[in-house]
This record gives sequence, structure tokens and C-alpha cells, in this order.
Amino acid sequence: MTTNRTLDENELVVAQTLLAEIRARMDGIAGSDERLRFALNRKVYKELSYDERGKPNARISLKARTARAQNDMCAQCRTALSASDTVLDRLVAEKGDVEGNVRVLCRKCDLAIQRERGLA
Ligand SMILES: [Zn+2]
Repeated sequence: MTTNRTLDENELVVAQTLLAEIRARMDGIAGSDERLRFALNRKVYKELSYDERGKPNARISLKARTARAQNDMCAQCRTALSASDTVLDRLVAEKGDVEGNVRVLCRKCDLAIQRERGLA
């Protein structure tokens, strides 16, 4: 398990500057239209999350294929996966939700692994 790449001090300034520019652009476009500003924010947020994790339908079918390949057992504890309470876990976050970089975990194992990674 690799840890996620983080930003150094200079890169963090670049990211904060970029974020400020995006916010200023959205503020400029939306003007006093708060609903437009909200919709722009929502759209940019959603598209950036798709860049990282893929679109929902692709993730759902990847999860189903991966669970089948694991014989519907948790990749960690090997207990039977429930029909609904499972998690698609990326091995290397930067590589995204793609075949070969994911496994399906039961909720209990996912929580334990997230805690171990310091994410929960
Ligand atoms: Zn498990």
C-alpha cells in the first residue's frame, strides 16, 4: 500500500492560488445570482471528482465485476460480501478506479483500513 502523494509547501501555494482563481471566475460569472453560483460550484466539484474516481455508472459496473472476480468475498477478510454494504477500494489512489487497481471490501474492513491510513 502506497501513501497518497501530497503537496509540498510551494505546490500548496499553487493549489490555493488555482482554487482562488476558480472561485473568482465563478463569482464573476454568477454575479449576484446565488443559485447560478451554487450550480457552477456543484458542477465543477462533481466533474473534478469524476476525474479522480470515474463516473458513477462505470464505478458501479467495475465494482460488480471486481466482486464477481473475488467470488463475492471481501478481498481482506474473505467473508461473503453483502449485496449493498460494500466499498470499492483503490490500491493506489492516483491511478483511479480502474481494473487491476481496485478491490471490493466489506464495510468493516474498509473502516479498519481507512483508520490505518489515517483517513477516518
Ligand atoms: Zn472484510
